[in-house]
Amino acid sequence: MEKKLNRPADRVLNLPPYIFSEIDNKKNALRAQGADLIDFGVGDPDMETPAAVVKELLEQAPKNENQKYPAYNGAAFFREAAGDYMRRRFSVTLNPENQVTALLGTKEGLAHFSWAFLQPGDIALVPDPAFPVYANSARFAGAEVVRMPLLEENSFFPDVYSLPEEVVKKSKVIFLNYPNNPMGTVADRDRLSALIRWALKNSISIVYDAAYAEIVYDPEDRFSILELEGANDCAIEFHSFSKTFNMTGWRLGFACGNRDLVNGLVKLKTNIDSGVFDAIQYAGVKALENAERLASDQVAFYRQRRDALLAVFQRAGIGYVLPRGAFYVMARTPEGMNSMEFSAMLLEKAGIVTTPGAGFGEGADKFVRFALTKPLGEIRKAASRLAALNL
Ligand code: PLP
Repeated sequence: MEKKLNRPADRVLNLPPYIFSEIDNKKNALRAQGADLIDFGVGDPDMETPAAVVKELLEQAPKNENQKYPAYNGAAFFREAAGDYMRRRFSVTLNPENQVTALLGTKEGLAHFSWAFLQPGDIALVPDPAFPVYANSARFAGAEVVRMPLLEENSFFPDVYSLPEEVVKKSKVIFLNYPNNPMGTVADRDRLSALIRWALKNSISIVYDAAYAEIVYDPEDRFSILELEGANDCAIEFHSFSKTFNMTGWRLGFACGNRDLVNGLVKLKTNIDSGVFDAIQYAGVKALENAERLASDQVAFYRQRRDALLAVFQRAGIGYVLPRGAFYVMARTPEGMNSMEFSAMLLEKAGIVTTPGAGFGEGADKFVRFALTKPLGEIRKAASRLAALNL
């Protein structure tokens, strides 16, 4: 190929088009005209980081010993606190020495995991719909991506048993995410146990994105894949501080589980980033220590909002998937409309910003996503606008 000045690598040029830009452009144009928009688009909590967590950062940041390069895999005190949290909240026992690593947010960890474990010739199994990082990072690593539809008749769980044998043979990694963004569904322990047995039989590692682990509307649905038999042999689980503790801007998470998977990730990361600011890790420990109370407060807020929005949908004749976890509601598009069309209509006719399901994969093109990151007042305001649409 001809050399060209300042040309990005193919892996960047080949990135799929940014599907949200059309909605973003419309949103910005309407805002510029002074439109009063209600934005249910962003998955960024509107509430504040708990005061005790902020206080801890303020206490730890001035200390000189915290201002040095941190440990690559996280400070021992942080890994121990993460291990203790996993034991308290999920009855999972981990060795904090080699089964836990701190992350600069789960997005960073997930993307680097692909780079640490995938290469050309490998297949990565990615649900459709899914958080876009799984597929994009797998492609960055040179792997082929095979999408697994999450079908309603299958409780939005992938049917790995119908994958062709040659796909299974080349599959190295399967990504799973429960509670699920964008569908709001949770996993079933029996199906997951069967999937673990299938993964072990076929030498496929499970990457379990548990970023919303604490945001579940029935306590029974709060669990870790690592509780299940065999998971410790093939699974790595990713936890985030972003959603449970309103800490999206802090960039903090951790990965835990199988030792080889954790160590492979750490080995790669050692050559890329230099860990998380120790003062932020101390603040994270405060959050983990108070997880019981903090998480239950958050879930109470989201439950109120979820129920209010569902009541609005019912009155407006909008169908939906009942969310059991995470803080999103997937609204069904009206007959004959795809997600981009419905999202554009909601914006233009009702001043309501949503995320088209197609942004997460074709499998969600019959849905638009409402994030519950707006106070009740905004949800009530949306009610009359949605009712006026006469859907
Ligand atoms: N995983 C899922 C499913 C998400 O929805 C998000 C953020 O939206 C992330 C991971 C990233 O979280 P973090 O802020 O920890 O990088």
